Parts: sequence; structure tokens; C-alpha cells
Amino acid sequence: MKKLLLVKYASEIFLKGLNKGKFEKKLLDNIKSVLKGLNYEFVTDSGRWFLEFDNIEEGLKRVIRVFGVSEVCIVTEIEANMEEIKKQALKEAIESKTVTFKVETNRANKNFEGTSMDISRDVGAYILANTENLKVDVRTPECIVNVEIRKNAYIYSKRIKAAGGMPYGTNGSTMLMLSGGIDSPVAGYMMARRGVQLNCVYFHSHPYTSERAKEKVKELANILNSYMGDVKLFVTPFTEIQMQIIEKCREDELTIIMRRFMMRVACKIAELNGISSVTTGESIGQVASQTMEGLVVSNDVADRPVFRPLIAMDKVDIMDIARKIGTFETSILPYEDCCTIFVPKHPKTKPRLEEIIKSESVLDIDKLVEDAVKGSIEILQNPEI
Ligand code: ATP
Ligand code: MG
Repeated sequence: MKKLLLVKYASEIFLKGLNKGKFEKKLLDNIKSVLKGLNYEFVTDSGRWFLEFDNIEEGLKRVIRVFGVSEVCIVTEIEANMEEIKKQALKEAIESKTVTFKVETNRANKNFEGTSMDISRDVGAYILANTENLKVDVRTPECIVNVEIRKNAYIYSKRIKAAGGMPYGTNGSTMLMLSGGIDSPVAGYMMARRGVQLNCVYFHSHPYTSERAKEKVKELANILNSYMGDVKLFVTPFTEIQMQIIEKCREDELTIIMRRFMMRVACKIAELNGISSVTTGESIGQVASQTMEGLVVSNDVADRPVFRPLIAMDKVDIMDIARKIGTFETSILPYEDCCTIFVPKHPKTKPRLEEIIKSESVLDIDKLVEDAVKGSIEILQNPEI
């Protein structure tokens, strides 16, 4: 008798047809990479994935964070023999400390006697005969005792919801505009959870934004990195651009012009690194620059798709995710960011594209972008998980 983890993956992977193998391989590689340093064995039995650990708690903690894993169950492996199955199923039902239960059987081993229905019924009857307070409820049971019959039999009732999504690295790449705020780390997490490889760019306005503000962004990138292990962070000098805008443009247009520069630089660094899209933490209506008009005007300079996974989300829901993924506490540290330092008193909420293009034409846009790109420093995150 052995305790194992049964790893289940998102049903979307099953729908990938001929590509299924590719997705499975990537998922398995990603699982193996988070398990580095642990003593474990990976075993398959009729298409099911099992992991055996010396330290099952630590293994579980790591596996449920892997994108593409939908659920992890703690199973007991026994011989495929009806007496053993009944005994173990009874134990699971008692340990669940619930009142209602049902038995579900999956019989992949067709040599095993009886249909799935027969087995569920016999095991259920055995549990009822050997307990006093348990009742069967086939519709909404508190506890489902699963019996899987393959080469061996696997009995379980404990299932833990995992990260879900698609295997990281199976859906192209993106350049996340990562600020020190609450939203952008969540946006990055959501893209990565759908399999998109993540890179980050942070616009740093030294000396107006402090070293500590930069450290905070690095820490956020590090937290994101703990989910995927290959996140790059580009730190881009942004002071000169901001100074030029402040000196030469209208005060109420500072924010929108600044956002257009961020977008241009992010696209350029993406291009130079073969990254096909940009992601931001914008949410419609959240602040003055995130009105529909503001988004249209800043989007106009992008030369590749810009994804905004939070666009239709409420702040409270974004904050919930931030707490869940572990970025919230860092995001709320009170260090200034470059946008808060240069905020105009009355920013334009309905900028018009032609006007903004005219206003910014006094700047040497190409040179400013080129210098910011050249001055960018690439920081490889510590792949320690
Ligand atoms: P966040 O919580 O992500 O900072 P926010 O609500 O504060 O977002 P803004 O400051 O208007 O909103 O920024 C909108 C988006 O622009 C951010 O989500 C982020 O993607 C990007 N952004 C803003 N400031 C920076 C910066 N200094 N470096 C990189 N990206 C930035
Ligand atoms: Mg911000």
C-alpha cells in the first residue's frame, strides 16, 4: 500500500488532437522542473500520471502551482483485488468525516471482473454495512470515494484544486509592462497561466523613483518567476523621456504622452527579443488614463497585439487574485512609482489622437525611444523556486 499523488490536467489539453503529445510533454517537463531537489518517482498507469514522494506535502504544494494541472488527488495504491478495494474505500469514507457519500468507479483494466456500476454498488454496500452514520447520496454527496482500476487499484477521496490553465511555454510570449502596483503582476500571472511565456519591462525614473521602488518591482518579478522559472526583467531608464515631456508638452497631456512612450519602448524591446505581444495591467475606467479614449490613444503606437487581461475586471476581484498568487503584500508597499510622481492635476480623460500626435511632435521621439531601449538592463531572475 502506497500513498501517491494523482495528477490530472485540464480537459482543454485533451482537445488538442494531434498536438496533445506536445502539450503533455511540456506539462511534464514543467512539473519536473518545479520538483527539482525533491526525491520522487514519476509513474504512469494506463494513461494516468502518478507521483511518489518521500515528502508528499512538499510535492503537493509544488505540483498544484503548475499551470495546466487542474487537480491533484491523494491516492492510495493497492493491489487490484476486490477485498482490498473495499477495505481501503471504507477507510477513505470514514476518514472523510462526512455524512453522505457515493462511490465512483473507473475501470480502465477491462480484465477486472464486473462493470463500473457493479463495483461502485458493491463497494458502497460494504461501506454502509460497516458504518453507522454514513448515507449514500448520488446527487450531491459530501464525499466521493473514487475507485480507479488499472494495473493496480487507486482509491481516493481527497482532491485539491490546482492552478489550471495551459502548460507554460505552449502559447507564444509576451512582454508584460510591470509596475510596482497591484494590477500588472496579476495580468502577467493570467497570461502565463494560459501558457504564454513571460518577460517584464519596468520603466524606472531615477532619481525620482528610488532604488527601493526598483527592488519592489524585482521582488514582484521574482514572485511571478516562482511559478515559471524563466522570467526576464528589463529595467528601462525613463527619466529623460519624462523630463522632455514635462518641459515641452502641455501639463494635461503628460500622462497620455508618457503612456505612448512606454508602449513604444515596450514594443521595441519585445521586437529585439523576438517577443510577439505586449501585456498591461489596464482595466477600463480605473484611472484617468484608462478611459476608452486613453486606451485607444496609447494603443495607437503599438506595432504588435497588446493584451489587457484585466480590462473588464473590478479592482476588488483583481486584489483577490493578487492575494492568492502572493503579490499583494509586495504591491502595496508604499514606494512611489514614476506615474504617481508626474501626475498632472487635471489629466485629459478624453484625449484625441490627432491632438496628441501634434503635441508630441515637438519631441525627438525616435531618439528618446532608442536611448531608452539602449539603456535597458536585462535582469535574469533567480530560477530558484
Ligand atoms: P498597476 O497596479 O499595474 O501599477 P495602475 O492601476 O497603477 O496599474 P497605471 O499606473 O495607469 O495603472 O498603469 C497602467 C499599466 O501601465 C500598468 O498596469 C502597467 O502595465 C503599466 N505601467 C505603469 N507604470 C509602469 C512602469 N513604471 N513600468 C512598467 N509598466 C508600467
Ligand atoms: Mg501603477
